[in-house]
Amino acid sequence: MKDYYIFYNNNFVKQSNATLPVLSASTQFGLNVFEGIRIYKEDSFFVFRLEDHLRRLNNSLHQIGFKAEIISKNEFLEILKELIVLNNIRSDFSIRFTYLINEMDSWSSKKRPVFFIAPLIKERNKADEHKTIVVTKTRRISSLAMDPKVKCGANYINGRYALLEARSLGADLPLLKNKDGFISESSGACIFMVKNGTVKTPSLDSDILESITRDTVIKILSESNYQIEEKLISEDELIESDEIFLCGSAAEITPIKLLGDSDFKIGDITKHIFNEYQLAITAKSYQGFSWTSKLDV
Ligand code: PMP
Repeated sequence: MKDYYIFYNNNFVKQSNATLPVLSASTQFGLNVFEGIRIYKEDSFFVFRLEDHLRRLNNSLHQIGFKAEIISKNEFLEILKELIVLNNIRSDFSIRFTYLINEMDSWSSKKRPVFFIAPLIKERNKADEHKTIVVTKTRRISSLAMDPKVKCGANYINGRYALLEARSLGADLPLLKNKDGFISESSGACIFMVKNGTVKTPSLDSDILESITRDTVIKILSESNYQIEEKLISEDELIESDEIFLCGSAAEITPIKLLGDSDFKIGDITKHIFNEYQLAITAKSYQGFSWTSKLDV
């Protein structure tokens, strides 16, 4: 991986020079909150749903008890511009924006967090990409114990256990149920199913992250007059579906070909949302939603 410049603790530094103590609260306990934000390159750079990512990060900051206010959208965009220039970026990329404690301390730390903004090169999905998933015994963390709506590093260990299980079963990705046995989400993406033309997705009380891409998909499909249901979904109902796809900032729209032993086709609605999502991320449609921040560098 290239040693990019990142913005860390108020300085532009090479990633290899951005260090923190091994006994910091963040290295020991996963005490950090973060966002993954996509930036798409056409004639300009397009940052996708920046305000929504900043809002969610601000919520995570407060819920984890960090005493800090998030930087503004304009401050973020200025740092981003500088990173594009310093790193000579000319392609799609992704940003990891993380608040962490970079001092030696315990998980109960009351120290002030610092943040970094780091670019990672990541291209958009190709149309023929698809994945296999399996329902795991590992359940999704419950909002009663460790709220999945907080995008905290430590929450991802739940995804890690599920992913290890999925791989041992020969699948690419896990699909976790929640504590009550309803379908929740994958390790880093939400799930949609299509049955007889109706699109269904686990409701927000299914112990899922409030995914920004899930919201995008719902809005795009509503615009095209598809019927959408947000509800509790059982494994039996999911297996009976005609089409399944995952969605997320990193996953974008990822069709599912196999769930356990059941085959699925990449159907018309999955193809439709895949194509519409590609248009939305670079402001070729849905301008009414103001989803993109255009950046000329
Ligand atoms: N669920 C989890 C657990 C995730 O980590 C992600 C990725 N952020 C998602 C869903 C998708 O969320 P978003 O669309 O906001 O990226």
